[in-house]
Amino acid sequence: MTDRRTQLAANLAKVEERITAACVAAGRKREEVTLIVVTKTYPASDVRILSELGVRHVAENRDQDAAPKAAACADLPLKWHFVGQLQTNKVRSVVGYADVVQSVDRSKLVTALSKEAVRAGREVGCLIQVALDAGEGGRGERGGVAPGGIEELADLVGEATGLRLDGLMTVAPLTGEYAGRERAAFERLMDLSTDLRRAHPAATMVSAGMSADLEQAVAAGATHVRVGTAVLGVRPRLG
Ligand SMILES: *Cc1c(COP(=O)(O)O)cnc(C)c1O
Repeated sequence: MTDRRTQLAANLAKVEERITAACVAAGRKREEVTLIVVTKTYPASDVRILSELGVRHVAENRDQDAAPKAAACADLPLKWHFVGQLQTNKVRSVVGYADVVQSVDRSKLVTALSKEAVRAGREVGCLIQVALDAGEGGRGERGGVAPGGIEELADLVGEATGLRLDGLMTVAPLTGEYAGRERAAFERLMDLSTDLRRAHPAATMVSAGMSADLEQAVAAGATHVRVGTAVLGVRPRLG
């Protein structure tokens, strides 16, 4: 094994242990939580190793980096998640490789995603990104819609051709009433998911938790955790 492979295997095993322990502590089955490895800023060669190590879900946040990486890894049995703020002029490219877009936060984006999904003949899964630090009706600093805006967007996705409403996503806020209270933030997201599923019963995905707070997310009931640093190492620049 190469050094990088050994390192990634060891990191992955540690993350796997953390998820398992968090599931045990929460009385949940390990299968209820899916690990998504966030490979942003890391090369396609790392994605290939992760695939060989059994990873099946990867996430990226910038189309410029993700598009060539996904193309270089097109032969691998991976699901690609897009988790970054998404401009409408990048939607055509993203729809070319993304199975799920986790950062749906405005109606213009829904329209663009639907149009491009139809054009590509693909079905794209969508998560509404929730900003728990946004004022009602407002937007988060790192994208996301305030809780009050979920219903309208969810209905829009639900009616859009080529799109499938899969659930909700959040990033633990750094500001506002949930700053430093990850567990409370993720529990709020779970409540919002319960509300959402009344009208959209198939929208069961709850994407929450990163390297630093995956335990809190699993405890709250997240179905998907998005882990970058703990698997791949500290990123050279913020990405
Ligand atoms: C980078 C990123 C992650 C992973 O963060 P780590 O702290 O490296 O685990 C998760 N979610 C989103 C939206 C990200 O941009």
